[in-house]
Amino acid sequence: MRIINSHTHLIDTSVVFAEDQLHYLEYLKGIPTFSDLEAVVAMLSLESLLAQMDEAAIDKSVLFAMDGPLLTASNQFVADVCSKMPDRFLGFASVDPKKKDACETLTHAIGKLKLKGLKLHPPLQNFYPNDKNVWPVYSLASDLGIPVVFHVGTTPFGSLVKLKQADPILIDDIANDFPNLKIILTHLGTLWHNESFMIVEKHPNVFIDTAAYPYEIAEILTEKLIMRVGEEKFIFGTDFPMPYERKMHRIKDFVDVFEKIDLSPELKERILFSNFKTIMNGVV
Ligand SMILES: [Zn+2]
Repeated sequence: MRIINSHTHLIDTSVVFAEDQLHYLEYLKGIPTFSDLEAVVAMLSLESLLAQMDEAAIDKSVLFAMDGPLLTASNQFVADVCSKMPDRFLGFASVDPKKKDACETLTHAIGKLKLKGLKLHPPLQNFYPNDKNVWPVYSLASDLGIPVVFHVGTTPFGSLVKLKQADPILIDDIANDFPNLKIILTHLGTLWHNESFMIVEKHPNVFIDTAAYPYEIAEILTEKLIMRVGEEKFIFGTDFPMPYERKMHRIKDFVDVFEKIDLSPELKERILFSNFKTIMNGVV
């Protein structure tokens, strides 16, 4: 079976560990997810990601850029990886919607750098997704025919972030105003599960990735929920290299969970591959 991991990160360590960025690491102190930060950092290489993809028989991964602290990866950084290995990676751009040139940056990332979508992380980028000032960015994404991924739900960056900016209900305003824009929520809602499923159920143009903790995938992702919310709505992702359940990230853990859970082979195939392919209009 073909598998696409629709949610992975490689960060630009030369930026994140630059002298003037080190203070951001303070926000990770005392947070259980990052109790072994050095081990997470050690995984942040293309070789490590490829080895995990091969171990889990992943055909292709979506790499997210991030114009923000801690997960920093420029559009160029992501495009360089994707152009080196186009059969293994496709890249989603990032823009900081507060910057005046956000639309120009997005146009360049899609047109010139050949990135295929937009990833936004409202709490880490410190904006409210339903702020009307961001409407031009959504309008452009809709015109370009690219999906927009929103981080929703809890986020492990301590007092650096405001959770109210990650409220899935805020996405309702965007989905109402941009019915042709494909929107992907993340992590089965990251503990904001039901509110996220409400948005996905309500809007034909809103989808959600399964980059949640493996125990959540096993407990939450039932056939009844999928049939209610929409069998075309769920896409496989893992959020490499984020730790979970006090363990280091292992993409194969997620594939193994999908092998075990009680879903029909057809549904599993949709989640692991076809649903994402449809969102991308067949271009994966
Ligand atoms: Zn992520």
